[in-house]
Amino acid sequence: MGKSVLPPSEWSVVWRRTILIAAASTVASWLVSNLVMMSLQQGMNDVGTILALTLPAALGGPVLLFLQVRSAQLRVANRRLETLASTDWLTDCLNRRVFTASVSSALDSGEPTGTLLVIDADHFKTINDRFGHERGDEVLQMIAAAIRDSIRDGDLVGRLGGEEFGVFLKGAGFEAAGRIAERIRAAINGLFVTSEGVVQRLSVSIGGAVCAGDGGFAQLFRVADRRLYAAKHAGRNRVELGGSIDDSDVAALAAAIG
Ligand code: GH3
Ligand code: MG
Ligand code: MG
Repeated sequence: MGKSVLPPSEWSVVWRRTILIAAASTVASWLVSNLVMMSLQQGMNDVGTILALTLPAALGGPVLLFLQVRSAQLRVANRRLETLASTDWLTDCLNRRVFTASVSSALDSGEPTGTLLVIDADHFKTINDRFGHERGDEVLQMIAAAIRDSIRDGDLVGRLGGEEFGVFLKGAGFEAAGRIAERIRAAINGLFVTSEGVVQRLSVSIGGAVCAGDGGFAQLFRVADRRLYAAKHAGRNRVELGGSIDDSDVAALAAAIG
């Protein structure tokens, strides 16, 4: 069976618009016919009235319906393309470009409060090596689902690349963000990947930065990313949301992590 031409919600729009335009055309046709007959100083007879009332819908109705269906199909296709262009194909999260733009516009909005989390899967290379790349892909989907299940509607989740995700917790300050980040960490740490007797528990490290007012996405990301390095360095499977480390520390951490 092929796919249906349109989803049911679009059919109701198509019928509503078709009936509305057909009704408006019928009224216009009746008025114009009357005006013409009056200007010729003749009244409308029954045949004229019936023709004025039925011809527009009879002649134009099918074309109108066809055009409305085509325009609804275009709307559906456009929505599908927008979704494809804004989401990551594997995990269904926002892609990096759209995530960055969405967080930036949230930060630019009247009340820029929130927390950016950068989440990186621990020892992901080992998962690929042990279980294969396809299983690795499934694990990325599991991680994305666990993140989505741990946050509120309206928060943003994006795949920043490889095995790294970004989450923007709108309106969340230090305490709330800490709770949610810990919930994400714990949810993922409750997941396992298994194959042929080999079992591996999943974990992620999370770095976060609470929006301090006037910084943009790049600044927030830099701080969150530093803290992610700190979380990795401190042993992984943990959240690092506060404390300050300067650039030389970051360089040393990056070198230590390799
Ligand atoms: P760390 O705990 O320090 O983060 O170690 P790691 O092994 O996770 O980090 P590393 O950066 O060394 O390795 C990341 C791995 O993620 C390597 C790469 O092959 C894998 N990877 C990146 N993107 C994908 C993907 O789309 N699918 C799969 N299956 N693997 C991916
Ligand atoms: Mg990693
Ligand atoms: Mg990584």
